[in-house]
Amino acid sequence: MQNTRSYPAFNTHNNLLLEALSVIYQQLNPTHCFVAKVEPLNTEITTLCYIKQGQYCANFCYQLAGTPCKAVIDTEQDVCFPQQVQSYFCDALMLKDMCIQGYLGILLRSQDNSVVGLLVCLFEQEIASQEQHLQWISEHRDYVALLFFQQHASHRIQQLEKRLEEAEKLSNIGSWRYALIEGHYWCSSEIYHLFELNEATAKLTFQQVLQSIHQDDKDSYQQTLTAIKTGSLQKYETIYRINREDGGVKYLLEKAEVKQSSGYQSLYLEGKVQDITPLYQFSPNKKLTDFVFEHTSEAVMITNNLNRIIFVNKAMLQITGYSRSELIDQNPSILSSNRHSAEFYNAMWDTLSTTDHWRGELWNKRKNGKVYPEELSVNVVRNEQGDISHYVAIFRDISQWKKIEKELRFYAEREPLTGLINRRVFNERLNHQLALITNDEEIAVLFIDLDDFKLINDIYGHEIGDLLLKTVAERLSVTLSTNDLLCRYGGDEFTVMLTNSNLQKTQNVVRKIRDCFQRFFNLNDHIIEVTATIGVAMYPETEASSTVLLRHANFAMRYAKNRGRNGISFHDSDLQQTYQKKLYLKERLKTALKEKKLQVYYQPIVDIKRNRVAKFEALVRWPDDRGSFISPSEFIPIAEEFGLIHKIGEFVLRQACQDLKAIHRLGYDYISFSINRSINEFIREELEHSAIASIVKAAGVPYQSIIIEITESTAMSDNHYAKQALTDLRRTGIKIALDDFCTGYSSLNYLIDYEIDIIKIDRSFIDRIAKDTKSKILISAVIDLAAKLDIEVIAEGVESETQLAFLRENHCYNIQGFYYSPAIPISECKALLARDLNHQKYALTHLRTA
Ligand code: C2E
Ligand code: CA
Ligand code: CA
Repeated sequence: MQNTRSYPAFNTHNNLLLEALSVIYQQLNPTHCFVAKVEPLNTEITTLCYIKQGQYCANFCYQLAGTPCKAVIDTEQDVCFPQQVQSYFCDALMLKDMCIQGYLGILLRSQDNSVVGLLVCLFEQEIASQEQHLQWISEHRDYVALLFFQQHASHRIQQLEKRLEEAEKLSNIGSWRYALIEGHYWCSSEIYHLFELNEATAKLTFQQVLQSIHQDDKDSYQQTLTAIKTGSLQKYETIYRINREDGGVKYLLEKAEVKQSSGYQSLYLEGKVQDITPLYQFSPNKKLTDFVFEHTSEAVMITNNLNRIIFVNKAMLQITGYSRSELIDQNPSILSSNRHSAEFYNAMWDTLSTTDHWRGELWNKRKNGKVYPEELSVNVVRNEQGDISHYVAIFRDISQWKKIEKELRFYAEREPLTGLINRRVFNERLNHQLALITNDEEIAVLFIDLDDFKLINDIYGHEIGDLLLKTVAERLSVTLSTNDLLCRYGGDEFTVMLTNSNLQKTQNVVRKIRDCFQRFFNLNDHIIEVTATIGVAMYPETEASSTVLLRHANFAMRYAKNRGRNGISFHDSDLQQTYQKKLYLKERLKTALKEKKLQVYYQPIVDIKRNRVAKFEALVRWPDDRGSFISPSEFIPIAEEFGLIHKIGEFVLRQACQDLKAIHRLGYDYISFSINRSINEFIREELEHSAIASIVKAAGVPYQSIIIEITESTAMSDNHYAKQALTDLRRTGIKIALDDFCTGYSSLNYLIDYEIDIIKIDRSFIDRIAKDTKSKILISAVIDLAAKLDIEVIAEGVESETQLAFLRENHCYNIQGFYYSPAIPISECKALLARDLNHQKYALTHLRTA
């Protein structure tokens, strides 16, 4: 049959409808007879019961369009075509196929009068008595309609059940019913599916359901059930887990309510169960969170309660190099680098289980085997019952960070030019070492300072200066052993810490460092010679503090430097004390100079031939706060050492010239003033002699009345400048005297090498005149020699009659000493000149003994 589908015959109501149709068949004798329902939209008709030539047949379905049935429905009236029905409905192929002549269509209405179906009789022959037929059939129509209804409703129920089953399957919802008193249990197919049971092999019982529930959820479920049974609870909603066949768990949401079956007293519980595992695994906004997880730059990994990976995002794949399928269902230990101990992981799990959170840095391994650092945070996810359901790990690869951090740390600890550790780190390590030190251990600290580095910078420029520092750093690094700590302390200063050292070891290292500077430095084709001065301090000689050790090493270095370049000095506390005293005195002297506290006294030099004062030696005086004087022997060397001697020299010269001028004005124009000058003042200052000459000139005193006394602390022959300067000075008419003759470096050679006007025989020789013949011989020889070279002689420090007599006998007529007078203020000098010399001698001798 074209356009038709077959349905199997079904259910009990069918029998009644079949009986009814049989009656119709017997009465009207149609070839085909069926009851059909109109499908929604009136396009199709489906038979509910069909008899063909008196035989019950399978149902079928056909299209309404172009059929007489359509006319029945459209007109809502019974229709009868007693003959040649095919000629009216040419398109109805079914009529043709069946060879139908007569057609009888009866409308079936529901109780509310709406059209629900048709009763159709088809005849192969002409309908003879159509009026009777219609009459008979319309009388039975209501009965058929009723049967139809029952049939139709039953069909509908089946359809709904089918749809329900499909819907349940789709939504993972199953339904069940449990008779509370009788204990009967019924459930839908989906329940079997949810509980992973085969419907065909076993009938599910309520007891089985209970057994399937997860051990940890069973108690609370039982309690709910008891509450239902005792009537204290009418409905509930709960979530419980059941164990899956694959070892996992399934989350089920169950809603149930107590109901009473109508007509009976019996109570039953009706429930719905839904599989919410996916919902439970993720948030309800799963799509959204999936999107966020997938696109976040941080790696996300989720594991289940058994610590099996169930989710990874793109970033995770990128960082680890694994594919999704390689990671899913794995234990995260697949990423383990083996760099961490078991204790590390134990501590991590401990923290996780107590605080539900862990955060820290970790080394993991990529698929390619490379180990990388990551910053990891793990959070525990718990279910409503408080049990761990998942672990969510979020991490990022911090290799880049670590690299930057390393560089930052390098530069925080290092000095950028040389790459050596900086001062702060040196201090820290030194202190650290001192803190760890054992009794018999010694630590040496070396302070190395390049000599004249400023000069190199000035001459060659900073670029070469920097290059020199770098090269020095390299040479030192190579020279020192790896245990020694080398630091660029600042500018051109380097420090070294030698641990586990002793004096001998330290001396060896110092020697090696010195050797570094033996070789020339070739810097961008500039060949430079550089020396360094080294100061050393050692623990336990000094206290265990980096500051003190460094200060002492620095002091030793400065001390060495003061004695010249390229020096070495080991710290010594006596030395330091003296030095500190010196420093203190230097500061005071500076202030005294600034505040013009210095004075000039004059010691007469008596011409015993003429029996009168011929000269005065200008001697500087520094009164202290207590009314006495600080000795020049004490502060002149300090002034020399710290470069203040020029200032003193200039002050004394100016003052002396001024005072001499005043004396000349008083009429004593034969008087000369002798002024002390250290030889060191002539070392670098080429201008010194011209400065002296111009001061003398400016004061308006004759050059011839000025004597410059030169004291030497170093060999004068070394000093080319001094020789030239003194020659130049002498040309102006200023006289040159050699002070402290016969002591120190002074030698007879000078009398030949230098153009000298006067020599002053040192007090120490005069002192020995009475006791020792050798001194007498030497003095008389010197006087003789000087006379032959036309050099005047002054005897210093004459204190006694004996000395005076010896000198007179040997033709030395210039006498200076306490025998006549100590140095006195200018006012007294004036008074002295005014008095008779014999009287003066008496007066001064009296003064001296008083
Ligand atoms: P000097 O140049 O040898 O000066 C002579 C020193 O001997 C003076 O000591 C003087 O007071 C002392 N004296 C003189 N006669 C006697 C004597 O009969 N017995 C003894 N015991 N001593 C006598 P003063 O003033 O303490 O000066 C010490 C040194 O300081 C000087 O030795 C000189 O080298 C230096 N000095 C003093 N004033 C100046 C100065 O203005 N410039 C420089 N460069 N040095 C100076
Ligand atoms: Ca002198
Ligand atoms: Ca002297």
